[in-house]
Order: sequence, then C-alpha cells, then structure tokens
Amino acid sequence: MSQRERPRLVIASHNAGKISEFKNVLGEHWEVWPQSEYGVSEVPETGSTFVENALIKARHACASTHCAALADDSGIVVPALGGDPGLRSARYSGAGDQANNELLLTNMASLSGSQRVAFYIAVLVLLRHADDPTPLIAEGRWHGQIANAARGTGGFGYDPLFVPDGGSRHAAELSSDEKNRVSHRAQAVARLLEQLGG
Ligand code: IMP
Repeated sequence: MSQRERPRLVIASHNAGKISEFKNVLGEHWEVWPQSEYGVSEVPETGSTFVENALIKARHACASTHCAALADDSGIVVPALGGDPGLRSARYSGAGDQANNELLLTNMASLSGSQRVAFYIAVLVLLRHADDPTPLIAEGRWHGQIANAARGTGGFGYDPLFVPDGGSRHAAELSSDEKNRVSHRAQAVARLLEQLGG
C-alpha cells in the first residue's frame, strides 16, 4: 500500500514510547502522527471508566485535528481495594511512581493470599471521526499479584511490585521484549489489529 493511500491516524498521547510502538504496529494501515504535531491540548479525563477516558481523549483529538485518532487509557486494579488505584493509578499518591508504590504497599499491609490479586488493564479506542458512532475498542488485561516488597529496575509505574501469573519474577525484572509480548498493552494492541483485519 502506498503512503498516500493510508488515512492519517493521530495518537492522543504525549508518550514518545507509546507513539513509536503504535507507529510500528499500525503503520501498515495508517499514517501515524503524534497529537503534538497538531498542537492538541490536554483534555480533562472526567470519565469513571478506562474506556470512557480513552473515548474522551480520542474524540478530543479527532475534533481538534479532523483526522482519525487513537487513545489509550491504562492502570492497575486491585479488587480487594475496591478497584484502587484504578483510574487514579498515575496520581495515586500525588508524588510519583515510587510514592505510588509505597502507598499501595501501605494500603495492602493487612492483605494476604488471594487478597493480593491485581491486574493491569489497557483500553484502546480508535475513532475515525469525532462523531463516529462505532469506535473500535480493544482491551487487554495482565493478571498477577502485588508482592510485599519492590524488586527490579525495568519498566515503570507499579512494575516493581507486580508479579505476573505464571512466574515468580516481578514485572520490573522482565526485559522490555518479554513484557511487550504479554502485557495488557500488547494484548490490547493485538485485539485492535484483529479488528482492523491485520
Ligand atoms: P497511562 O495510561 O499510560 O497514563 O498510565 C496510567 C498509569 O497506570 C501509569 O502512570 C502507571 O502508574 C500505571 N500503569 C499503566 N501501565 C503500566 C505498566 O505497564 N507498568 C506499570 N504501571 C503502569
């Protein structure tokens, strides 16, 4: 397919890693552009679910650029904490990743066994235009447990505390290739590709 035949797809994110990952996996179908190239402003994430927040970001990017847009929203969910950190994963403590991890450990100090079950979730929403009534929605979940102490230096966010099912290593001890094969985001991207027929 030639460059000219591919529709433009704006990625509603400022994260350079995510943008290049989406470019790699969607480049065959779309001409991928970061929203910074269009000067898209931040939009308040006022939804009460991951899918609503991804939809809000995708619709805002579409409306601002008049192009198709892809947004993602992700976080970590601990059912025994009523779903926390959940939508507030990035700002759980208000003081960055390390403080988030410390707060999570404190809030789970009295929890053991199956109460330490957790999952990462990633939701992707692709809108062809701002009024698109049929968004493509793809979700991935990565299941595991919250450990009692941090381990590892890779990844970001809650990875030092998260022990994916099926092994004993913490997510921060996996190589980025290993993580990218199985993570919530990888699963969501694979499901989006299925919907795009590729
Ligand atoms: P965002 O959707 O990229 O803004 O992610 C929201 C927050 O969820 C991040 O700031 C992290 O705290 C957490 N999070 C999402 N995905 C991951 C991951 O793969 N590893 C660790 N933390 C994550």
